[in-house]
Amino acid sequence: MGNRFQVSDHFTDGAQYIGGRLRPGTADEDHSVVDPATGESVYTYRLASAGDVDDAVAAAKAAFPDWAGATPGERSDALHRFAGVLAERAEDLARAESLQCGKPIRLTTEFDVPGTVDNTAFFAGAARHLQGQSAGEYSGDHTSYVRREPIGVVGSIAPWNYPLQMAAWKILPAIAAGNTIVLKPAELTPLTSLMFAQAATDAGIPDGVVNIVTGAGRVAGEHLVGHPDVAMTSFTGSTPVGKRVAEIATRTVKRIHLELGGKAPFVVFDDADLEAAAHGAVAASLINSGQDCTAATRAYVQRPLFDAFVERVAELMETVRLGDPADPATDLGPLISHAQRDRVAGFVDRARGYATVVTGGMAPGGELEKGAYYRPTLITGAPQDSEVVQSEIFGPVLVALPFDGDDEGIRLANDTPYGLAASAWSRDVYRANRATREIKAGCVWVNDHIPIISEMPHGGYKSSGFGKDMSAYSFEEYTQVKHVMFDNTAVAAKDWHRTIFGDR
Ligand code: NAD
Repeated sequence: MGNRFQVSDHFTDGAQYIGGRLRPGTADEDHSVVDPATGESVYTYRLASAGDVDDAVAAAKAAFPDWAGATPGERSDALHRFAGVLAERAEDLARAESLQCGKPIRLTTEFDVPGTVDNTAFFAGAARHLQGQSAGEYSGDHTSYVRREPIGVVGSIAPWNYPLQMAAWKILPAIAAGNTIVLKPAELTPLTSLMFAQAATDAGIPDGVVNIVTGAGRVAGEHLVGHPDVAMTSFTGSTPVGKRVAEIATRTVKRIHLELGGKAPFVVFDDADLEAAAHGAVAASLINSGQDCTAATRAYVQRPLFDAFVERVAELMETVRLGDPADPATDLGPLISHAQRDRVAGFVDRARGYATVVTGGMAPGGELEKGAYYRPTLITGAPQDSEVVQSEIFGPVLVALPFDGDDEGIRLANDTPYGLAASAWSRDVYRANRATREIKAGCVWVNDHIPIISEMPHGGYKSSGFGKDMSAYSFEEYTQVKHVMFDNTAVAAKDWHRTIFGDR
């Protein structure tokens, strides 16, 4: 296998980043980061205990007054420097992300890392634009204005599918708005979150503003969510864990932001450009080996185009090159773990009983046998209420289903508990516009599926959660607004006192 990131050069001091330095965890359990392309352990670290979480929260709490008191311009300067340090370290970040996730180096180099640098630069600018309503004399006797204030210590929890970008999405709006943060990445993929935090420190962001605890969900995660000094929980992950997190956070009346699972529909109307739709479906269902919360998972294709779409998608899927993630020629890497690969294979194997596997449906074997690889898979003939249509598979699996009228296409697109993302494919502006209005999802693309941009919000409808990552909308999650009201009359007996004093 190709030129690999050497983890041992980076994290000899441990995998907890607290108060601006690395240290070992103190749980009584170790965890290994496994390269999913080979199944070999590349780094073993001691997990965070509840005590480590306490220390990280204390560091964040201590750093809060000064960071919250910095001017927006000062925070902006620090974030600009942070973007610069990340850009200098782009190659290392791309290689580390590829190693721990099994992502093709082309994906981390062209998507994860530049996206993260751009997000950092965006929040450097946005930090100076925390806007409120205009001030005014709304009652006549008072001047009112709104202060937008940080919330305090944010406790964030992130998944393994885009560890670097998820760290960025959680940390950047929080600190741009003047909060401090403790982030718990997924146990499987701690490396780039730690590198992100180190870059923050090296850019001059004060110690304690960004802290990383790498621990188990049940231990470090739950302790962070329930911590009395944590003012807000921001969670990205699966819907079942999100429900548990919400329950725990509610006990201490925390603000909650939940970015949960998805099962994105990809609706192809009969006037669509078939070639564009087929290419789009393959790229959008296979990106990151399908381990993308917005990945295209359910292609609803209007009947006149259905057979040609299925044929073309299968043909294109068969051209996708599985291989060593470190090789720039590789299109598709392994899944995150052998357990995830087996979980995906389970969905497909069960579907053979009620549907047709048109292509894929197996591990590649041969040279790739040791890795958690799975071939691009297309399924047809599955009933709308079957598990491959309703459940989040989180693998390189696309289900294609035909529909007749436009009403049916939109109804089927909305017929899952999820509502994170969707796309509509049509050359008719009225049809496409109707789909954007009627599909219940936090993002609807037209004639594309997947691109994201720092200036625009990302977040779910329905069981995909609530609240927004990225864009200025994320400040709604990470700030609270305070109404300040000044009396302008300077009289002791104010007009409204008549409610108590009558005419006296
Ligand atoms: P997961 O829910 O299993 O884990 C997410 C994080 O929660 C991990 O850090 C994990 O350690 C932690 N965790 C687990 N149990 C916990 C508990 N009891 N208390 C506190 N924390 C706990 O998700 P995953 O398998 O890591 O990631 C895949 C999921 O993430 C998919 O459902 C995917 O759709 C979702 N996701 C959503 C978005 C989005 O923006 N909506 C983005 C990426 C991923």
